[in-house]
Amino acid sequence: MAGISWHYVLKFIITGDAAVGKSSLLVRLTDQRFLANPDPTLGVEFGSKLITIPEENKIVKLQCWDTAGTESFRSITRSYYRGAAGCLLVYDVTNRTTFESCRTWLADVREHADPHLTCILVGNKVDLCASEDGDAPRRREVPAEEGERFAQEEGLLFVEASAKSGENVQEAFERAARDILAKI
Ligand code: GDP
Repeated sequence: MAGISWHYVLKFIITGDAAVGKSSLLVRLTDQRFLANPDPTLGVEFGSKLITIPEENKIVKLQCWDTAGTESFRSITRSYYRGAAGCLLVYDVTNRTTFESCRTWLADVREHADPHLTCILVGNKVDLCASEDGDAPRRREVPAEEGERFAQEEGLLFVEASAKSGENVQEAFERAARDILAKI
């Protein structure tokens, strides 16, 4: 990567219930791959990626932190949130409980993070709602409209994505980065 420089470094945090796919989204972003059976005890903690925001003609270095198993403590330490410019708040579209938890996660983020933080709500695992890969399709428990409505009410960006197929993963980070740059 010698010779490549960037205009901004943005810290991102990834929150949400256990097993919604936070580590997988991070691995997909930084490594363009998917692990069907990641070791939960070896959660990815950190990943970094350069992205280009063409409208702003800027190269941005994303530094992304995953909660890596600490979500069971519910309230995550202040140091984790410190300096974050962006947050991915993740749920699993096939598991309503994880969507309902987003309210609590958002309250935690709002309590500890910078009030100007850009937050994008990510409905992950949309690949499970399609039947193309041969697996029996799992029932979607959270309609896209419901995610969209919650995001609108709370002033969040919103996207549905799949760490497995890669759909909308880089886009989710890019949309949040674009929003952050627009505020700078
Ligand atoms: P985390 O605890 O939120 O970091 O979740 P992980 O990234 O460890 O993922 C939990 C499980 O869900 C793993 O078995 C992943 O392979 C699986 N998973 C994660 N993202 C997706 C996705 O987009 N689609 C599908 N089908 N499975 C996923």
